Amino acid sequence: MPSRQPVDLVIEARWVLPIAPENSALAGHAVAVSDGRIVALGPAAELRERYAPQEHVVRDAHALLPGFVNAHTRAATVLLRGLPVRAPRLRWLRETLAPAEERWLSPDFVHDGTRLAIAEMLRAGITAFGDAYLFPEEVARAAAAARVRAAVGLPVADATTPWAENATEHLAKCEALWDEYRSHPWVSLHFAPQAPYCVEDATLTRVRRVADELDARIAMQLHETEVEVRDSLARYGRRPLQRLADLGLLRPGFTAINLNRLDESDLELITRTGIACVVCPQSDLRLGDGPSSLAQLVGRGVSVGLGTDGAAGTGALDVLAEARTASLTAHALATGRPALAAQEVMRLATLGGASALGLSHLIGSIEPGKAADLVCIDLSPLACQPDADPFDAIVFAATRQQVSDVWVAGRAAVAEGRLIAFDEQELLALARLWARRVQPGAAA
Ligand SMILES: [Zn+2]
Repeated sequence: MPSRQPVDLVIEARWVLPIAPENSALAGHAVAVSDGRIVALGPAAELRERYAPQEHVVRDAHALLPGFVNAHTRAATVLLRGLPVRAPRLRWLRETLAPAEERWLSPDFVHDGTRLAIAEMLRAGITAFGDAYLFPEEVARAAAAARVRAAVGLPVADATTPWAENATEHLAKCEALWDEYRSHPWVSLHFAPQAPYCVEDATLTRVRRVADELDARIAMQLHETEVEVRDSLARYGRRPLQRLADLGLLRPGFTAINLNRLDESDLELITRTGIACVVCPQSDLRLGDGPSSLAQLVGRGVSVGLGTDGAAGTGALDVLAEARTASLTAHALATGRPALAAQEVMRLATLGGASALGLSHLIGSIEPGKAADLVCIDLSPLACQPDADPFDAIVFAATRQQVSDVWVAGRAAVAEGRLIAFDEQELLALARLWARRVQPGAAA
């Protein structure tokens, strides 16, 4: 009998959900991991014969799946959770969020807030996130230290922000950061111009040129509200997506975030240009803008990921909850249509998000060669029994509390329900410290 091949880790689970190349549930399978990468996926008995792992993990009441991807958030705004949330969104942004940010936004705020958000996300099985906020260097630093994958947006604005004075200074700082992180193991960067109504055509054209030169992705929040679409029609004579198309921004390396109330021409444009999309079902519903056009996008074969958006508006950085909401609301505008299948939304919550962040070559599915970013969900609780269809059990019955184990690049970040990537006591103290500063009434 040939000797067994040494590997770092083998994980056996009741179910393995590889998501791709086939989106199915494999019973009694296992995954072998070495040097942070997936080496093999196969029947557990077969892998036991082939591999001699340093560590052998057996989770016989669990589903093993690729880590969830939070394709759009503003991680640091966990520090603003608890501020009143009220629709309409633009008024809330102007009257509640902007004053708080003006008062508190700083490198320390973003660094500490991002650390807290990363801990919350890891505990919820999220191993990669896309961020759109100011002080991106602090987001990158926090992600790299935590060894979690981050696609960090480089903010571009015409107006003065706490990060830079004008478009030229924003772009100069973006390019400097680009050089620093060009081949980083945890952090990838992309250009993230602010919402289209905040950025003039000339600046968007400059972003496109620089992004083309650097072969960088661009992500923008678009079609968030009906007002945004109406104002764009009044000011530019075109809907926001059409305006960006005319400026040459819509291409496969472009990710559009939000996308509420799309019309036929928008959908046609998205399909034709091959852009990726991210929807944020819970924040859109909470702020009165949803439901998104998810069903139409998926129906046309567009690549879609799920995002939580910022915790200040959503409440929780919980992609599993977003998946359930996405499924249940996908057809909310049409009566008589069932929810989007659990299997389909699980793909959006993993591989769909990975594509939207430009990381689908590396993460989003359990395939040999990809990074071992893996998650176990415990399906033994009564609420998930019987678990004959693990996709349904996960999406419609489980909660993020049932995420038992998380590995990022083969390294454990959560083990048997305990967060080990961070000291939870230290983080709780940090959260309380900021709460006392930002919301003294609430923390009394
Ligand atoms: Zn957002």
